[in-house]
Amino acid sequence: MSQYDLVVIGTGPGGYVCAIKAAQLGLKTAVVEKRATLGGTCLNIGCIPSKALLHASEMFEEAGHGFEKLGIKVSKPKLDLPAMMEHKTGVVDANVNGVSFLMKKNKIDVHTGTGKILEKGKVEVTDADGKATVLETKNIVIATGSDVMPLPGVEIDEKQVVSSTGALELDKVPGKLVVVGGGVIGLELGSVWNRLGSEVTVVEFMDKILGPMDGDVSKNFQRMLKKQGMEFKLSSKVTGVEKKGKGLAVTVEPAKGGDAQVIEADIVLVAIGRRPYTEGLGLDKAGVTLDERGRVKIDTHYKTNVDGIYAIGDVVAGPMLAHKAEDEGVALAEILAGQAGHVNYDVIPGVVYTQPEVASVGKTEEELKAAGVEYKTGKFVFSANGRARAMNKTDGFAKVLADAKTDRVLGVHIVGFGAGEMIHEAAVLMEFGGSSEDLARTCHAHPTMSEAVKEAALGAFAKSIHS
Ligand SMILES: Cc1cc2nc3c(=O)[nH]c(=O)nc-3n(C[C@H](O)[C@H](O)[C@H](O)COP(=O)(O)OP(=O)(O)OC[C@H]3O[C@@H](n4cnc5c(N)ncnc54)[C@H](O)[C@@H]3O)c2cc1C
Repeated sequence: MSQYDLVVIGTGPGGYVCAIKAAQLGLKTAVVEKRATLGGTCLNIGCIPSKALLHASEMFEEAGHGFEKLGIKVSKPKLDLPAMMEHKTGVVDANVNGVSFLMKKNKIDVHTGTGKILEKGKVEVTDADGKATVLETKNIVIATGSDVMPLPGVEIDEKQVVSSTGALELDKVPGKLVVVGGGVIGLELGSVWNRLGSEVTVVEFMDKILGPMDGDVSKNFQRMLKKQGMEFKLSSKVTGVEKKGKGLAVTVEPAKGGDAQVIEADIVLVAIGRRPYTEGLGLDKAGVTLDERGRVKIDTHYKTNVDGIYAIGDVVAGPMLAHKAEDEGVALAEILAGQAGHVNYDVIPGVVYTQPEVASVGKTEEELKAAGVEYKTGKFVFSANGRARAMNKTDGFAKVLADAKTDRVLGVHIVGFGAGEMIHEAAVLMEFGGSSEDLARTCHAHPTMSEAVKEAALGAFAKSIHS
């Protein structure tokens, strides 16, 4: 007799959500977590602490530079970094404790320790004292997430050369911060320290920031970040970081090769991506296959090549996003309970929580062109939106891409204040196969930033009214 129906290894958004859904559907469920607190990368060292610092630093920036334009005079704000960090820690604690509460509420057993798959149906948990327990289970879910991608030749000490984890913990504002990697994490954390007073230089290998995002978006967004004081070295690579006195000497070369340049930094943040984490899981012995990029290989039902062993989240292919992991967790729990779990990978929003925010769902113009799809575009700038003017948040635009023949919306891209909230009307529309006409004919409250999304849809379908 199996002790459990399901044992989930890892309690990030993929693992803990899968466990809750499975328990709700009547499966006897346990989770295994090696970290002292639940919630994984996202709650402990990722989404949640970064958003706490992004919000706090945005308020600091507003008080310093935004209030006066609204007729509010305040003296120059003073940074209390320990208090800001305390805010972040409090937010993390509330969230991880919330997950513990949900485990209890759903009668899910929590085993603290490192999980190793001994064979199909058996997970060994080794706690901090080295004591091992074996759990027997009908099904195993690998939800062990991801870890920082190292930069060859550069050692991360989490003090001067930091990953995102160290960048969330700095005890003083660096004079000069070099960010290696112009992706979401680098730009978000670069923005935090830029607002708090650092001179930030972003070194990016590609010729654009934000990698796969729409080219129009990344070009305009880079200009906005530049206006905020961030410097960019595109088509460049960091090939070495050396200690020089109290600071660091960072060697930067053109991506294609050529003369090196040395720039000074107090702190270097390595943010070149994340890689799947499967260390110590015993996958070799259990016979679970990985793909060429070290991700656990699964079929369309999240099953690995071994019966009874499944995988979800950052450890499998697809965008490394918390909500993608969560949705996979729900779908898999439903499948294990005999239901028809499913995730629509064409409609997974992506958000960059900077100021302005960037939000995107569906295809980019580049992807549509490469696929030979004929499309039409509607674009509306926030400088023509009444609410944006009222709030002094006129940077950015909304862009709707729709199929030229059917009018079905294929992609929506927004740069602007609150873009991360606005994107969801597009996601719901696309989930139901809606058209730009559907979006444009849906009555939107006035005055709202969302009216720009409606106007962009109107631009794709007929003609915008307010531009
Ligand atoms: C700085 C930063 C900011 C981010 N911001 C966002 C954001 O705003 N929005 C967003 O969608 N995504 C964001 N992400 C990405 C997001 O954190 C991940 O996509 C998400 O956490 C993946 O969830 P997961 O459940 O697959 O794995 P994880 O959250 O990585 O959780 C895996 C868990 O498994 C545990 N584990 C690993 N191996 C074992 C083992 N053998 N035994 C027991 N436990 C084990 C780990 O300790 C960990 O707790 C951010 C990431 C970072 C680093």
